[in-house]
Amino acid sequence: MTAMAITPNMTGHNARRDLRSWLQVLAGTDRIAVARSGLSLTDEIAAVSKRLENEAAVLFPTPDGHAIPVVANLFADRSWVADSLGVPTESLLSRFQDAVRHPTPWTEVSDAPVQEVIHREIDLLRQLPIPKHNELDSGPYITAALLIARNPTTGVQNVSIHRCQVSGPDRIGVLLLPRHTHHYFRMAEQVGAALEIALVIGVHPACILASQAIVAIDQDEMNIAGTLLGYPVEMVKCKTNRVRVPAHAEIVIEGRILPQVREPEGPFGEFPQYYGARANREVITVDAITHRRHAIFHTIVGGGMEHLVLGEIPREASMLEHLQRNFPSVRDVRLTRGGTCRYHLAIKIDKASEGEPKNIIMAAFGGHYDIKQVVVVDMDVDIDDPNEIEWAVATRFQAGRDLMIVSGAQGSKLDPSAHAGISAKMGLDATKPVKTEPLEFKRIHVKGVETIDLDRVLERDPRSAFNRLMADDGSSELAAPVQTKTPRQEV
Ligand code: MN
Repeated sequence: MTAMAITPNMTGHNARRDLRSWLQVLAGTDRIAVARSGLSLTDEIAAVSKRLENEAAVLFPTPDGHAIPVVANLFADRSWVADSLGVPTESLLSRFQDAVRHPTPWTEVSDAPVQEVIHREIDLLRQLPIPKHNELDSGPYITAALLIARNPTTGVQNVSIHRCQVSGPDRIGVLLLPRHTHHYFRMAEQVGAALEIALVIGVHPACILASQAIVAIDQDEMNIAGTLLGYPVEMVKCKTNRVRVPAHAEIVIEGRILPQVREPEGPFGEFPQYYGARANREVITVDAITHRRHAIFHTIVGGGMEHLVLGEIPREASMLEHLQRNFPSVRDVRLTRGGTCRYHLAIKIDKASEGEPKNIIMAAFGGHYDIKQVVVVDMDVDIDDPNEIEWAVATRFQAGRDLMIVSGAQGSKLDPSAHAGISAKMGLDATKPVKTEPLEFKRIHVKGVETIDLDRVLERDPRSAFNRLMADDGSSELAAPVQTKTPRQEV
């Protein structure tokens, strides 16, 4: 676990955590690269970020001459996510489950760093360094903004992330999947009103993770962030509408989703490693941009590691919660990398009875419509290792007996093999029987492999040790086994 850095603008007794404090943690542990000044927002920032996606965050000063720097790759894998929440990697999912169960309501403040600078004349590409990411994206996209919307009737807020295409100086095309923001927007549109929203860029990882929680509509995700951070998030009212936004964010774009307006959006490179198609979609008109002095712009490369990991953790936590409600034998779940951290689920169980894995598979299909393939494995299989999962399928699974297929179910619209989001589901029970013969499913093991002290048994300088042995002419240990006849082992 990494020591938490102190933010420069920290007030009060608790270290406040924001994007800057996380960047300081990364810098303090040599996990941040700094690019030379002036790289291009078109392709180049994404290229560097993508190249370093497994090893380092990257900070880009003065991209295309902009005063505001860009940062990417806040997470390279799940251990970084755990680090950002201050927990060991093994406790990551249970920490997130706990935050969903016990949210901490946010508080409202009137004075906020994010409103230090206010623009009311809007020119998005001039005022903000917005990159273009994948090669065939339609243009620059805001990809790491929390979209905060108010329920038009109750005022309860919803937080989610959407791809946002820059369509004009003060115009943004937005993809709303059929979830909570979409529902709020339909409520507003039915009475001919625009939906008040804010796009919040540059927040602590806890806020980004919380936005991805699979929770009921009208459960404000920012309250989940409060529990993850350990204190209520401070929110401030926007300058041009009633939406409340995190006071310590870097940048806020205030606006409205317009009723009865649809304009072309896309293509855009997405998490399944394909382009989401161009189509007529909802449109945001921008009323104001507010930001900190010396603000930082966070971007996420579509389909990159950060994108995959960000969606993975909250989905795993939600799936684990869903499964454990009915199946106490379920111990852990993983949305595997090869399955785009969305479609393929590995479930580890402490199997108690025959047949149970198939019930668990059916429950997993119902847990999220994105789930397309489920493999259930035993406790001795490492679900972080794709080779281990495949080994379980290779040696504990029989297709004629352990395979389940459901066709014509709801799936992901971004899966190009699905037809308009209609998809088949496949479940594999790769567990061994509860009762087995003693050696039947016994995994081989070399005694001492985990504990042997290599410093004790190996030569320090293998090259000279090797040369010494090879230079000897018959009197060395190498020759010895030839003289001492070892009896062949009887088979
Ligand atoms: Mn929601």
